[in-house]
Amino acid sequence: MFEYAPAPESVRPQIKEHYGLFIDGRFTDAADGAVFKSLNPSTEEILFTVAEAGEADVRAAVAAARRAQEAVWGPMSGTERGKYLFRIARLLQERAREFAVAESLDNGKPIKETRDFDVPTAAQHFFYHAGWADKLAFAVPGFAGQGPGGADPKPLGVVGQVIPWNFPILMLAWKIAPALACGNTVVLKPAETTPLTALMFAELCQEADLPPGVVNILPGAGATGSALVNSPVDKVAFTGSTAVGRAIAKAVAGSKKKVTLELGGKAANIVFDDAAIDQAVEGIVNGIFFNQGHVCCAGSRLLVQESVAEEVLARLKERVSTLRVGDPLDKNTDIGAINSAEQLARITGLAKVGEEEGADVWQPACDLPERGFWFRPTVFTGVQQSMRIAQEEIFGPVLSVLTFRTPDEAISKANNTPYGLSAGVWTEKGSKILWAAERLRAGVVWANTFNQFDAASPFGGLKESGYGREGGRQGLEAYLDV
Ligand code: NAD
Repeated sequence: MFEYAPAPESVRPQIKEHYGLFIDGRFTDAADGAVFKSLNPSTEEILFTVAEAGEADVRAAVAAARRAQEAVWGPMSGTERGKYLFRIARLLQERAREFAVAESLDNGKPIKETRDFDVPTAAQHFFYHAGWADKLAFAVPGFAGQGPGGADPKPLGVVGQVIPWNFPILMLAWKIAPALACGNTVVLKPAETTPLTALMFAELCQEADLPPGVVNILPGAGATGSALVNSPVDKVAFTGSTAVGRAIAKAVAGSKKKVTLELGGKAANIVFDDAAIDQAVEGIVNGIFFNQGHVCCAGSRLLVQESVAEEVLARLKERVSTLRVGDPLDKNTDIGAINSAEQLARITGLAKVGEEEGADVWQPACDLPERGFWFRPTVFTGVQQSMRIAQEEIFGPVLSVLTFRTPDEAISKANNTPYGLSAGVWTEKGSKILWAAERLRAGVVWANTFNQFDAASPFGGLKESGYGREGGRQGLEAYLDV
């Protein structure tokens, strides 16, 4: 039996019973009065209810964002915009523990991750982009000095942003910080299962005295996202599944809207026979079990060289057996709850397919809480390239292990999926890292590490993992009209 440790009083967020939509600087109910519930996935209890935005609300939010962009935010100097972003970044830092607890409650992810990764990385994103706000001429190669009187490249206008549930506050930061730094205003739709920290962020915008209409938050499901994509915004920025990304690309085709798509992945984590095995095992565990495997760039395929496969697998199973699954608010928890019943059904379904296709399944013995959505860390061996568990994104704590004999075979297997978001390489030879990085069709290649992110590094995919970059100078270009 698991006992749920209550969050210490000092950091327990003040979660309201009900949240409205955030339009033009104020919280308001939906025009048609629609409401939905947000659950705590580790207990299945209702955390709060929230207004669900419909088409009329999307129209109102886009109009508010347009007014704010044209009258206030667009004409404002970069230095002034930067001050607001710095203020938001500092407020996020001040309220970091509260945001971390809220995120763990609404999403199910372990507190040590929300505390040490999600929230600080989100704050870092605002700090980084605050620094760019008055240097935009340098964001575009060849632009600096060309404009009359040192003019900056222009913002696009109003941006519609749709984000997923796996890193709610961090994905919000990846979207809102660069858009605002460049002088755009935004209407953002958080995922239907994780709207809490976006709504707390709206409160934080009020606290920062951000001019009304610069940031608008519209909770809702796919229909709200679709209404936003089809509204008169100037750009759509989307992070989510490849299937929805495709639908969005079709919806905006033929319009003047710009679009960036950050989509799914099926990353290979490649362990060569000269790798430091202990370090590699830690990297494999981090690669697939961080955030319950709900990570677009998760190292969900382990490619291990045959000569060390037995040793790597033995040590991997030993290590996975030590992972603690359970209460997201317990700071010792390694693997929290699966975000929703739907996602649990998807993971369970694909794991079953893996067994039916003939792969060998292994799970450590571990108790799971009685209520909530849970899935044990799972390792499939004997996986063939053609199997669905080697091709499809499972988006859960499920690792598919394949072996290879030669480096060429490793690269060919690594590249053999429709995706191209990330990859990892484990070897003591620098030359092999460079050789592999040249050949891997992936937006990011990590060497002797995995899941490292920095606001200054552009992130994004190749192939069906999408197009456009977020972060770094390149991420700013996606929000500027040059
Ligand atoms: P999803 O595509 O189901 O939903 C993403 C968002 O789109 C949600 O807010 C959802 O309500 C909305 N949506 C659904 N249908 C829509 C429509 N027709 N029009 C507009 N919006 C619509 O994805 P998910 O299950 O929330 O997230 C998981 C996926 O996100 C995975 O595939 C993962 O790889 C991907 N992801 C990618 C990155 C990246 O940077 N490449 C980062 C995180 C997650």
